[in-house]
Amino acid sequence: MAKSKYIMHQCAYCHKQAKMELVGGMQNEGDAEPPQKVWYRCTRCKHSALLDAVTVQKEKNGSVVKIERSECMEYSKEKAYSVGQAIYHAELDDVGKVIKKDKMSNGIHSITVSFEKLGERKLIENVRLEPTPELAVSQSSL
Ligand SMILES: [Zn+2]
Repeated sequence: MAKSKYIMHQCAYCHKQAKMELVGGMQNEGDAEPPQKVWYRCTRCKHSALLDAVTVQKEKNGSVVKIERSECMEYSKEKAYSVGQAIYHAELDDVGKVIKKDKMSNGIHSITVSFEKLGERKLIENVRLEPTPELAVSQSSL
């Protein structure tokens, strides 16, 4: 169950991929929250860096932190999205992440998406005349 103490990470001091040693984490004990920040020390220059645990995880799994098209939900104004969700906008041909949700004064829901190429765009979501019992879907597995 022991995890590797070492990761490969772009060291801010060496300016190259360096082997980093785990020196300590800032974890919330017994909490459902995942650990947020972890200290790593570069084995080349001995500088310590406080890294985002999520970033580390991503760098371990893949190489570049990038939104994969296959992970994206295709954007459609009838659908509802959540913050952090990756979406693909077919018309704009760009992928992005939902960074904010809003409800406009006219009752229309909107999301702000940070697109890889286009930057921030505001899109409408959850457009429907009547609310449909979408929440019931998650209970169907019972
Ligand atoms: Zn270094």
